[in-house]
Formats: sequence, structure tokens, C-alpha cells
Amino acid sequence: MPKGEKSWKGNDAGLISLHRMVWRKKGKPNKCEVCGTETAKKYEWANLSGNYADVNDYKRMCTICHRKYDDHSKGYRGKMNIMAKLTDEQVRDIRRKEHPQKYYVDKYKMSVSQISDITRGLAWRHVA
Ligand SMILES: [Zn+2]
Repeated sequence: MPKGEKSWKGNDAGLISLHRMVWRKKGKPNKCEVCGTETAKKYEWANLSGNYADVNDYKRMCTICHRKYDDHSKGYRGKMNIMAKLTDEQVRDIRRKEHPQKYYVDKYKMSVSQISDITRGLAWRHVA
């Protein structure tokens, strides 16, 4: 089976029909709400918070802004997920480095790079 075929029948098909619904209800976007351009070749409705069924959860963007927005929000959401797992006390626990890195990877179900970001102070900067 080609790689794309399975996802097409699953969630993607649902998303595509939801996108169609947005176009139907809100019309064709003709101005980017982010950079304000009215001369882009193409505009798209970008989903804001993952609430795909809500037509108000979309903002019109040009293709460039949409791509930037998606990259940004993916990175942001990914980071938030990591952050949500730990309390300040747990961060301090990791930073004490009383155990090998592997110990914390198992204990907190995080990746080696996430743990090392914490010990190096790249993540969780707000925890002293
Ligand atoms: Zn734009």
C-alpha cells in the first residue's frame, strides 16, 4: 500500500472535509490577517488552536504566513507538552545530577536531549 493511502482514509480525510466546511462557511480568504498582504497568489484558512470543527478557530493567512505559523505552533505545542510533565521540584531533581542521565530518562519518560536541555539550563530557564 502506498504510504499516503492509509492516512487519507483516516484522520486526514476528516480534516479535509472540515477544511471544506470552513471554505464553504467563511468563503475564500483574500487577505492575509498576519502580514496584511492582498497580493499573494494563494490564501489559506489556518487553524488556530486545533479545534478543527469550529469555523471561528480559523484565521486567513497567505501561504508563507501559514507555513510559518504551523512551524511555530508545532514547536510551541511540543515544548509545552514537555514542560507540562515536570514540576519545578522535578526539574531541580534532574539538575542535581545525583544519578546518570539514563535514570532521569526512565524516571520522567523523557528523551536524553530533553534531560540534557534541562541540565544545561536550555529548558525550564525559569526554574532556579
Ligand atoms: Zn501573510
